[in-house]
Amino acid sequence: MKVFRSFQDLQARLFNNEFTCEELVRFYLNEIKTNDNYNAFIETFDESSYEQAKIVDRDILNNKKKRLSGLIIGIKDNICYKNHVVTASSLILKDFKSLYSATVVNKLIEEGAIVIGRLNCDEFAMGSANENTVYGPVKNPNDITKVSGGSSGGSAAAVASGLCLVALGSDTGGSIRQPASFCGVVGIKPTYSRVSRFGLIAYASSFDQIGPIANNVYDTALVLEVISGHDSNDSTSSKRTVPAYSKLNASSEKMKIAYMSECIDHQGLDKKIKEKFLKKVNDLQKNGHIVESVSFPYLDYLVPTYYVLSTAEASSNLSRFDGINYGYRAENSESLEETYINTRTQGFGDEVKRRIMLGTFVLSSGYHDAYFTKAQKIRRIIKENVEEIFSNYDFILSPTTPHVAFPIGNEITDPTQMYLEDIYTVLANLTGNPAISVPESEKEYGLHHSYQLMSKIFEEDKLLSFANKYL
Ligand code: GLN
Repeated sequence: MKVFRSFQDLQARLFNNEFTCEELVRFYLNEIKTNDNYNAFIETFDESSYEQAKIVDRDILNNKKKRLSGLIIGIKDNICYKNHVVTASSLILKDFKSLYSATVVNKLIEEGAIVIGRLNCDEFAMGSANENTVYGPVKNPNDITKVSGGSSGGSAAAVASGLCLVALGSDTGGSIRQPASFCGVVGIKPTYSRVSRFGLIAYASSFDQIGPIANNVYDTALVLEVISGHDSNDSTSSKRTVPAYSKLNASSEKMKIAYMSECIDHQGLDKKIKEKFLKKVNDLQKNGHIVESVSFPYLDYLVPTYYVLSTAEASSNLSRFDGINYGYRAENSESLEETYINTRTQGFGDEVKRRIMLGTFVLSSGYHDAYFTKAQKIRRIIKENVEEIFSNYDFILSPTTPHVAFPIGNEITDPTQMYLEDIYTVLANLTGNPAISVPESEKEYGLHHSYQLMSKIFEEDKLLSFANKYL
């Protein structure tokens, strides 16, 4: 057997009885154990994978073919799976076993997917390099001296290196799209509320979305189609019906696409990525689409607004990790308060502590209006501005990231410098719109970079179809 790059190809062979699902699982478990040179997988779920494989084999024998029969999928280590360890790559959740499964995990298994293992990520999904993790950094499969991107770096690296067909990530400010871009694979952040967040360890609840990372747009669309939909366990999840995303529409309808001049003129944007981007604009125009620059005067406000609001939400969400209910507890504490303090001091990494402190500060009584309330207002203005652009255009196009992957152990010691890595991705999380990242076929500096396409809310079908055909 060989590593598959397309699920369609794999499934056709499985249904053709070229191998059994059990053989497939054995092959992939062995691949992960022997060829994960990237530190992508933290753990494989051997026992449950074989159990699922047996069910898939039986189903095939009974001619019960399901949409994801035989899909080898990995999950980010912040997605709960009953009776399996989940840690958010943090010491504070060391050895913690989940008591229930995330809705997305149940949906995948019901459709015949094999949840093969859990994937390294930045601690509590906070980071852009997958270096903030108790398991050590994830390496970029194209160049192991470079970062994978983050926070779903393990997910992107696992798919890019062929260790699984698809992986689930989560995206609060770019954590699916940015590592997908750095590793040269496809990733989508769905519309906020499209996919249930039940069983996702919360970082910033008004931003978080789960989404797939895959080798191609078709596999991405198929998995998104399965995991989307209303869930009574997530009161924010949408009741809208889920279109058949995987029926990628091949129409050549001409689209109107905007790109923000401030994004392209930004001094932080790499020159070669800019050149390629402008060439892409030209190619799309040659294909008959209208591609125009629009002005978006709020670019410099995106990252600060995101970091004020997301850290505020994180400081509240992470207060539950106190050494009493979950995972790690510091030893030798004399009182309840000391248990809290010692557990949280020892259990959280530096970046998580920094964000809890920042979030607590922006919510504190003297500063609430100056930071939190103000950021909420700016979020509203940004959303209105983006809605206005979408009243004239079908899509907004940009690079996914301003650079290619940077070296592991980078010189970026100033966290605010690192936060600028998110400049193009946070917009879709602030507004709730869906956005996909698709790699450019030609590398720069030996590494991948990608295009990000954003659409109106709930237009994932149109977004995926266009991305499949033209990006
Ligand atoms: N890189 C961003 C951050 O550090 C995004 C994280 C995410 O989407 N989970 O917050």
